[in-house]
Amino acid sequence: MTLTTMTDLHDLHDFIRRLPKAELHLHIEGSLEPEMMFELARRNGVALPYASVDAVRAAYDFTDLQSFLDLYYAGAAVLQTEQDFFDLTMAYVRRAMADNVRHAELFFDPQTHTVRGVPMATVFAGIAGALRQARADHGFSSRMILCFLRHLPEADAFATLDAALPLRTEYADLWIGVGLDSGEVGNPPEKFAGVFARARELGFHVVAHAGEEGPPAYVHGALDVLKVERIDHGVRSEEDPALMQRLAQSRMPLTVCPLSNLKLRVVKDLRDHNLARLLRAGLCVTVNSDDPAYFGGYMNANFVATADALALSSKEVVDLARNSFLAAFVTEDERRRWLDELQAFSA
Ligand SMILES: [Zn+2]
Repeated sequence: MTLTTMTDLHDLHDFIRRLPKAELHLHIEGSLEPEMMFELARRNGVALPYASVDAVRAAYDFTDLQSFLDLYYAGAAVLQTEQDFFDLTMAYVRRAMADNVRHAELFFDPQTHTVRGVPMATVFAGIAGALRQARADHGFSSRMILCFLRHLPEADAFATLDAALPLRTEYADLWIGVGLDSGEVGNPPEKFAGVFARARELGFHVVAHAGEEGPPAYVHGALDVLKVERIDHGVRSEEDPALMQRLAQSRMPLTVCPLSNLKLRVVKDLRDHNLARLLRAGLCVTVNSDDPAYFGGYMNANFVATADALALSSKEVVDLARNSFLAAFVTEDERRRWLDELQAFSA
């Protein structure tokens, strides 16, 4: 590497760190750092199957999505009180603001908590309390997207939506959508056609994980049956040329999570990741951290690692940030403000 390219790289990293951006694919439970996992376990008297913070980190050697989910659900058991959800969310917001994230749309999984006896209202109050405080204190913008766990039956998703609906008015400033996450393979979008139709009738935005480990047919299903407005992941769309054309023409946003794909072995090496190819094929690609505590990095770590591995230009980095604001579920005034900021920053 020449001195010039090293300087260029340093400049690009600095540029990325200061770049205004939005995060659209973040599971708040997946931002639970091992230190907080232990702190909350102690506070709540929960026994963890790990002796130390280091032992938890050592368990982060995942082989696939399911091996991660097993640890993720074990860790989530420490989340019990409104204060726990508040602390978890505030810790994420601080990390996001440090990365110059202006707006974040947080996924949350009520079923992971209600099954343990945590009331739906506790989950909402804790997360929303932190987001409202961050908005009041720092102008940090956010929304909440309630996700259904796809390895469970659709009837459970209906019950979850019904249990959350009485809270809708109280959290109208934040809860704007529903999503679909957890183990993808064997749980196609069609399984949730009914509950997504209901959510759309109620006026919610709808998104779904598709084409992470599942085939391109799941992306078609998410578009045609669930009628989603964004695809979460979607990287396997590349295997279907007609689907690629459709995604490019419609500018359907893809919330891509590079370090997640690496950690869960969707790709063996970040240099093999198709993010740059998807972007250069005209798709509305965004960069996101997914479950940052488990996958080795928050927003800027994802941007920097991807820019290095795929030799992204500064223009492409700006395009990724612009896409994140274009794909956000916000008012046109908010969108215009961030796009103007981005324009001024990159000029
Ligand atoms: Zn995800």
